[in-house]
Amino acid sequence: MAESAPRRLTVLGATGSIGQSTLDVVARHPDRFEVHALSAHRQHDKLLALCLQFAPRYAVMGEASAAEALASGLRAAGSATEVLCGEAALEQIAAADAVDVVMAAIVGAAGLRPTLAAARAGKKVLLANKEALVLSGQLFMDAVRSGGATLLPIDSEHNAIFQALPAGYARDPAAAGVRRVLLTASGGPFRTAPLASLAAVTPEQACAHPNWVMGRKISVDSATMMNKGLEVIEAHWLFGAAADIIEVVVHPQSVIHSMVDYTDGSVIAQLGNPDMRTPIAHAMAWPERIDAGVRPLDLFAIARLDFERPDLERFPCLRLAFEALRAGGAAPAVLNAANEEAVAAFLAHRIGFLDIPAVIEACLERSGSQTVDSLDAVLAADACARDWARAEISRRPLSR
Ligand code: NAD
Ligand code: MG
Repeated sequence: MAESAPRRLTVLGATGSIGQSTLDVVARHPDRFEVHALSAHRQHDKLLALCLQFAPRYAVMGEASAAEALASGLRAAGSATEVLCGEAALEQIAAADAVDVVMAAIVGAAGLRPTLAAARAGKKVLLANKEALVLSGQLFMDAVRSGGATLLPIDSEHNAIFQALPAGYARDPAAAGVRRVLLTASGGPFRTAPLASLAAVTPEQACAHPNWVMGRKISVDSATMMNKGLEVIEAHWLFGAAADIIEVVVHPQSVIHSMVDYTDGSVIAQLGNPDMRTPIAHAMAWPERIDAGVRPLDLFAIARLDFERPDLERFPCLRLAFEALRAGGAAPAVLNAANEEAVAAFLAHRIGFLDIPAVIEACLERSGSQTVDSLDAVLAADACARDWARAEISRRPLSR
């Protein structure tokens, strides 16, 4: 039993893969966590079921018709949960005085404003929404500092790195004796597929990840390895690591979730079964440890761990992400926005798999070196890159 009062939690993106894993951990520890608010974009049925289970004070839907459907479902069930709708409501449930902890698990740039609001309000921010950090790195880290927020990474690699770093690490690798950050990557479903077959892969094949069950956007990102590229940029901001000391290591078993290489030759790794409830439970209870419902790691069943260098010809998105990080300014925002548009077009069967890096590269070539030091500048860079990407997509032949 936890001795203090339960921590009050807002889950942004409650109906998604991370949102559901978060609520699974919450349900195991009713003495520790209390749900203040849940959000979802369109899936009112799924959010209704979660509201009836967790009885939050507020539920926020992205769309008015979905909000009405949710409200009538809640009324019929005699629930006291109040339904709100839209972006301002997301910021409200992220920053409310009653909230201690915010799980930022909306997918894509749509999560930026509420995640930023939680940081500014000094919450304990559990960051799954890596796109928000890629888009607005400096701005977001500044908001964490000025708001007095505690930022804990949920992405399994970054959570592993956090666990492998010394307590109180202050975003200064040299001061902590860190030589390299080793970011592991599964290599996704196409690590060994014949290169000639990649042009014709379908969204269903791209979403069939060998080790993890995730939302469709991040699944495609894993197949292109843009996910690892976004994670390189995420690691840069979270840990103050320059691009030169971040190394991607392909590790197909997804048992080592990442490592820190120290100047004395020590390499500290975090291992575990590929189950997001581990990093979620770690961050939720930090600095304590709680049961996450994850089965123990069976090293004898795993038997071996393999490592490979990433193939940048096969995975141009990883190269593009390193280039965007090194270019700085608006480039990471352009990379992220162009990727979101290209992945959506691929999932809609509008473009082929290999068009994804081509669209992103074309957008990055148009991007200048302007600084993005305000939310308006970030959002303008994002909007402009989406226009470029949509124009680029419309120039390409229909994939099928
Ligand atoms: P998902 O697609 O399963 O869920 C996304 C959630 O965001 C849903 O609740 C959806 O309703 C909400 N949403 C979608 N569009 C929205 C919009 N425009 N406005 C408001 N809400 C919106 O995605 P996921 O796999 O849970 O991933 C969520 C985030 O976590 C992503 O940023 C992803 O990169 C990151 N992440 C996921 C995993 C994983 O294992 N799934 C691992 C590491 C990081
Ligand atoms: Mg990850």
